[in-house]
Amino acid sequence: MSAPDLFTSDHEELRRSVRAFVEKELLANAEAWEADESFPREMFRRVGELGFFGMKYPEDVGGSGPDALADAVVTEEFARCGSAGVSSSLGAHKDLACLYVYNFGTAEQHARWLSPALEGRLVGALGVTEPDAGSDVAGIMTRARRDGNDWIIDGAKTFITNGAWADFVVVAAKTDPEAGHKGITLFVVDTDTPGFEARRIRMLGWRTGNTGEISLQGVRVPDSARLGDEGSGFYAIMQNFAWERLIMALGQVAGAERTYELAKSYALDRSAFGRPVGKFQVWRHRFADMATRIEAGRALTYNALRMYSNGEDPIREVAMAKMYTSEVAFHVADECVQVHGGYGYMMEFPAQRAWRDSRLGPIGGGTSEIMKEVIGKTYGL
Ligand SMILES: Cc1cc2nc3c(=O)[nH]c(=O)nc-3n(C[C@H](O)[C@H](O)[C@H](O)COP(=O)(O)OP(=O)(O)OC[C@H]3O[C@@H](n4cnc5c(N)ncnc54)[C@H](O)[C@@H]3O)c2cc1C
Repeated sequence: MSAPDLFTSDHEELRRSVRAFVEKELLANAEAWEADESFPREMFRRVGELGFFGMKYPEDVGGSGPDALADAVVTEEFARCGSAGVSSSLGAHKDLACLYVYNFGTAEQHARWLSPALEGRLVGALGVTEPDAGSDVAGIMTRARRDGNDWIIDGAKTFITNGAWADFVVVAAKTDPEAGHKGITLFVVDTDTPGFEARRIRMLGWRTGNTGEISLQGVRVPDSARLGDEGSGFYAIMQNFAWERLIMALGQVAGAERTYELAKSYALDRSAFGRPVGKFQVWRHRFADMATRIEAGRALTYNALRMYSNGEDPIREVAMAKMYTSEVAFHVADECVQVHGGYGYMMEFPAQRAWRDSRLGPIGGGTSEIMKEVIGKTYGL
């Protein structure tokens, strides 16, 4: 479904060109990359050359916008690449690491990290979550202490998308442990700094995402690596959650739509009792139910996107869209496995990957339980 009142003809032209790139250069390689559990790092250069990282950033920092709707189009099309590991890796770079440096960085920091990252010459990651603190951001333990004009960072991060191969990581650390959420500060840490170590983590899905566990031991960074004011980190994280969760919802809808097409194609191809399984009434109804949920998810998401691009603060709408679409995407993937029968359980068929990949939706970027907390609080509960 298109949204003529939301996207312009320029956006639709951009969609065609991103889709052509995704089909030819990502989707065509998805199976091989999944088998390798990684994808070529040069793909960041390729995406950067095509300008697909820069849509929501202005030209003076190396972007081609700012146009949040164009960036939404890129996100939707990346989500159709057949591997959530690849799309999340590109997304964590474009929408997490780069967005933090853009929103809270100085002109020098833009020149040092953001512009090369938009060209795909540097790969970025965001490191907030820790082994003992995920939903409870204020509970992080990583500590940054002043030492002259430098900071010394000690701590650990985990589940960090791109964490195992990033060139720089935006790290959240406590600079004033007594101040609770007001004591968190962000730093950009180059991953070749002594004391920084990362290793890959094996996961159920998102296997090409180079997700990493990070150890920071006596990592010395200059004050010029501090992103924003001391103590402003928690507020920065909360501010950026709006876009992070919105792009997750956009990705869930586009991914669910692709999984639906996969399921439908199989259901019309596979026969049992003398007819395609998709022609049994029970499956016709289940496809009708899936299609309805996808459209409902898209309507919620586009409503939040419209509000966001109008400069409103759609905290409730984004949380609703993120929660609902991630649950729809997993439901559709589960139905996709079911309609495949035994083949749905086989690693040679992509249905299992859609199922494994989509299970992350209700967990990453704020769990469904946390989304309900956010939504409930907006109603004064
Ligand atoms: C593949 C993957 C990629 C990720 N990428 C990144 C990344 O790039 N950068 C980054 O910083 N983080 C990343 N994360 C971390 C992700 O954001 C967290 O996993 C998520 O926020 C949940 O935190 P947690 O895992 O610590 O779970 P916990 O916070 O320990 O939660 C455990 C359970 O308790 C529930 N719970 C917690 N608090 C409440 C509450 N108040 N009310 C009700 N229920 C509650 C949760 O919903 C959950 O079901 C990634 C995670 C994964 C799995």
